[in-house]
Amino acid sequence: MLSLSHKQKFALKYLSKKLDFQPTIANTALKENGEKKKVVVSVDIEALKIRADNNHFEKLIIGKFGDRYHGFTKLMELSEKLCMRLSCFYDFCAYETYGKRIIDFAEEIIHRGHDLQLHAHPGEIDRLVWKKYGFQREPNCQNCTMKEADMFFEYLLNIFSKINTTVSQPVSFRGNSFTFNRNILESMPKYGLRVSSNYYPRSQFQQQFNILCPQFTWPNGIIELPISIVPSSFFYYHYFDICQFINTPEFLIKIIIERFYRKFGNNAILVIVLHSWSLLDMTNSGYFVPPANNKRILFFEKFFNMLSVEYDIVTISDIIKLNSLGNLSFCNINSAKLL
Ligand SMILES: [Zn+2]
Repeated sequence: MLSLSHKQKFALKYLSKKLDFQPTIANTALKENGEKKKVVVSVDIEALKIRADNNHFEKLIIGKFGDRYHGFTKLMELSEKLCMRLSCFYDFCAYETYGKRIIDFAEEIIHRGHDLQLHAHPGEIDRLVWKKYGFQREPNCQNCTMKEADMFFEYLLNIFSKINTTVSQPVSFRGNSFTFNRNILESMPKYGLRVSSNYYPRSQFQQQFNILCPQFTWPNGIIELPISIVPSSFFYYHYFDICQFINTPEFLIKIIIERFYRKFGNNAILVIVLHSWSLLDMTNSGYFVPPANNKRILFFEKFFNMLSVEYDIVTISDIIKLNSLGNLSFCNINSAKLL
């Protein structure tokens, strides 16, 4: 094992101090198993108020403009043609604003075969609503106490329980803007949540976490699926918020994806991030509108096709199964494979 650079040591020290929660050291080396390399296609589904002038739920979550469907509905169609299941991080706080429509659409996502997990934008809701649920202040995943973390997961799971399903149970949580803290991580197992997908050094809240790595475990056994980032040059990184690749030729995207596996090993899980509005265009006012042309659709058609042929697309729920079968390797984030 190579030793850590000064920068890595500093970052690890900062990470441990910041969270007061040292990631596990015990580890196995990533194994070659001859199978296709694994990819999670995650989609954050949300209706942020600043991203549309009206009909937020229809436009930003469903992708419905008038009687035409674009956006996320189109994204589901593209993936379904290839039998590719999306891992959907759904903003359950939106229930306060959009009510039963949020539950009905969650049922549609599940019935179409996609994986439904917890996402949350508590800041989108009137603060008075939180008082109604017994919160002293608006939930904030970055600085919540253990009690607040527990209350927040109870709140989210209560909304999830309104969904009529026997096949879907949430196992994962992604905070707004990838926010989390130690209390969030320690609260998760109490609610059956076993996978965090929040570690993302590119996030404005995590600039200090500059160790790049694939999946690892926190000391309480929570699996972390970091949003994938791969260094390109000394100052430049490719991050897999996939809309940035829309003007990139496919062969180059494949090179970048393969660079991820070369860097982190063939058992690393590439985690791609999309949003429910990824197939929409943004106006100068920051609103999402139907695409002016079919460029985005053609891109995703080709990109999804390439992914489904060459890689094994797994969902977050699949990760739990793979782990219980012993088919998952975890990165030792103290190792030199990190950066
Ligand atoms: Zn979000």
